Parts: sequence; C-alpha cells; structure tokens
Amino acid sequence: MGFRLVNVEGRAALVAGDHYFDLEEVSAGSFSAEPMDAIGHPERLAALSRMLSGNTPSGLVASASLGPPVPSPQKSFGVGLNYQAHADEGGMDVPDTPLVFTKFPSCLVGPTADVELRSDFCDYEGELVVVIGPGGKDIARADAWDHVFGLMIGQDISDRVVQFAAQPPHFDLGKSFDTFGPVGPVLVSVDEVTARDDLRIVTAVNGEVRQDASTAEMIFDVPTLISYLSRITTLVPGDIIFTGTPDGIGVAQGKFLADGDVITTTIDGLGTMTNRCVRVSDYQGDEI
Ligand code: ZN
Repeated sequence: MGFRLVNVEGRAALVAGDHYFDLEEVSAGSFSAEPMDAIGHPERLAALSRMLSGNTPSGLVASASLGPPVPSPQKSFGVGLNYQAHADEGGMDVPDTPLVFTKFPSCLVGPTADVELRSDFCDYEGELVVVIGPGGKDIARADAWDHVFGLMIGQDISDRVVQFAAQPPHFDLGKSFDTFGPVGPVLVSVDEVTARDDLRIVTAVNGEVRQDASTAEMIFDVPTLISYLSRITTLVPGDIIFTGTPDGIGVAQGKFLADGDVITTTIDGLGTMTNRCVRVSDYQGDEI
C-alpha cells in the first residue's frame, strides 16, 4: 500500500476514501504542513496512510479547496511530440531524442483552478505528470521507476501564437503563462496504480471527448525520459515531468479554448481534474 497526497489550501494532506487528513497533524509534527516537504519520503507516508483509520478526518476531499500537489518544484519539464498520432496530426516528424522544454513552475495551479486565456489561440494538452522522489544523476533506464515518487494528472495549456511566434519556437513561454499548468487532483504513489505503463488518458471540453489514448503509446516512455534528463541535470525530489500529450489537441481541429469552456482530464487511477477557462484580456497574440 502506498499513499495519496493532496494540497489543501497550502497544507499537505493524506487521502483515505472520501476524506483527507492533515499531514502535520497525523504525523504529530514529524512532517511540516509544507507540501514540498512531504516529497521524497514515500515509506513514511505509506506507513502513516496505513494508520489513518484511527484518526479523525480533517474534511471531505470533495469539499476541499485543492492546490497543486507539487506547488514549487525546482524543475518542471515538458515533453513535445511524444505520441506518434499527435506528431502526425501536426505534420511533424517524431524526434530521435526527447523534445524537452521548460514549463516554469510559476504556471502551476491546482486541479480546480481557472485557466486564464489571453488570446483566441489557447489549447489543452492532457498529460501524465511524473513526480521525482529520490533524485539522482545518470539514472539507468532499468532503475528509473524507483526514482518516481508518484503520478498525477496535468494540463499543458499552450498559447499557440506565442509558442510559434519565433523560430525556433519558444515552447517555454507559450506554455508558461500563469495558470497554464493545472495539476492534481491527487499525487498517487506508483504502487497504487495498477498499470503504470498503460494508463488511459482522456480530455474532454464541455463534455465532448477530444483526446482518448493510453500512456502505453508514448514514444519515449517514463524510464527513458528520466534516464535521458538525468544524464544532463541532477534530478531532485519534487521535480516534475509533463510527459507529452496524445492526439486530439485543439489546434489540429480548429477548436481553441474559449471563455467559459470547462476542461476535464481523467487518467486511470489518478482521478479527474476539472478546470474552467476565463478570458482575461483581449490580447490577440500578435503584440509582442
Ligand atoms: Zn504538452
């Protein structure tokens, strides 16, 4: 048995059933309330999770105000063109090595947060997000899953005009507007997930399914991404990787996000994340 971790108004909490339990309280102060401090201690979290039934719940998850389970990672990576059908829909060749960009941690928001749109060309990208536990350098592919603290849902929201405003494209900026990284609702330890390499991932907008695929279709799988990144930079607890999106994105269909749209993202075993879009300016993307 592992653990399910949430961020309730800035405080780490463990989930059991419908309830959450404040981590600082159930650990009698051995953990602080800070969500980042819980990361990297899977055994202690699992041990506490086994004893939750003897504690009084702090509240119902369904009525809690949830923040991002990992609010301030040192590094936040994104991976482009990591599903064949997605590369095909964009008329792009699949890269020989992972196409990696930075999603600035400042774009991360919680699983019910509004997504602020600043142009008519913003897009959804449902993705599996990997959270690093034990860090490391030069991690072998065969050992990579041992370095994963947990998994969660993410949306790699993208402003396509800003993304492609320069050549080569600046993925970092187009995907790092404030609120462009909703994650959650729960950070789930890998052993709580039945098929870590084959998770169904579905994104719907206003109830219309736009993306429906399996993470088994990744070109560079999770171990390959971790191994590749760790050859370049030391990974530390809490680093996150948006692992790429399947086909069905809006730009391929001429269906961009608009004010009031509701994005729902579901991954097997990780729950569902629901984010509403709010248009916050009339910026059209051509003024920079
Ligand atoms: Zn993406």
